[in-house]
Amino acid sequence: MKKSTDRETVYSCPDCVGVLKVEMSDGGRKGYVCQVGHRFSTHSLLNAKEKELEKALWAAAVLLLHTVNVHEELLLQQPGSSKTRSALQRRVREAKQQYRTLVRMIEHTHGTT
Ligand SMILES: [Zn+2]
Repeated sequence: MKKSTDRETVYSCPDCVGVLKVEMSDGGRKGYVCQVGHRFSTHSLLNAKEKELEKALWAAAVLLLHTVNVHEELLLQQPGSSKTRSALQRRVREAKQQYRTLVRMIEHTHGTT
């Protein structure tokens, strides 16, 4: 089936860093294709973007845990002033809360498929 590629979209390709373009088949069916030829239907693009989103959110959750750990190490290594310790402890509490909130958000996200 012959296909025509129209305009670029604002979407990146889920399989590489390429820009997706809209691709219309002769039958009028809309799809997406990147520069190296990764192709997606609207449905498969949606599924791929949901997976990308979940992966990015888990990466952010892990970074929050790392932030907690490094702050706690700093608290152990450097007594510092009570003002500094208080700021470090506040950030530990904040990052732990952000981690819990993010994990709840990820776990309570439901796809449409
Ligand atoms: Zn691609």
